[in-house]
Amino acid sequence: MNFRHKLTNIFLKYQRFMQGRYGFDEISYILLGVSLIFSLISNFDKLWFFYFIALIPVGFAVYRSLSRNITARISEREKYLVLAEPIKSFLKLQRNKYRDRDTHRYFKCKNCKATLRVPVGKGKIAITCPKCNTKITKKT
Ligand SMILES: [Zn+2]
Repeated sequence: MNFRHKLTNIFLKYQRFMQGRYGFDEISYILLGVSLIFSLISNFDKLWFFYFIALIPVGFAVYRSLSRNITARISEREKYLVLAEPIKSFLKLQRNKYRDRDTHRYFKCKNCKATLRVPVGKGKIAITCPKCNTKITKKT
């Protein structure tokens, strides 16, 4: 048996082992990231015990990936997506604000809190919120 055959064999065994198991998702990567941070912290002399704390999230990630209770893992992921949504949209807004920093200004509608984007250099303008039709006057 040559090397390539051996590799294929290992891969097939792994595939068979993972059959009916949940595998990795975003939560797994976050857990591994948290673990990485903990293990970096453990490099400080007085914080050596973080090395062991770092094993906890890894354990959870492995447990979840090998879990056969896929329904429970999917509902965990759905909860995660609901929790992560405001953070994701905040980061997206910050990225867009930075991207448009020379061409647009961002305002928040005082009535419905919607984000409004207007081009700069138009002087004092009346902005109508497309969501609730509230009018606000701003300098751009
Ligand atoms: Zn509005």
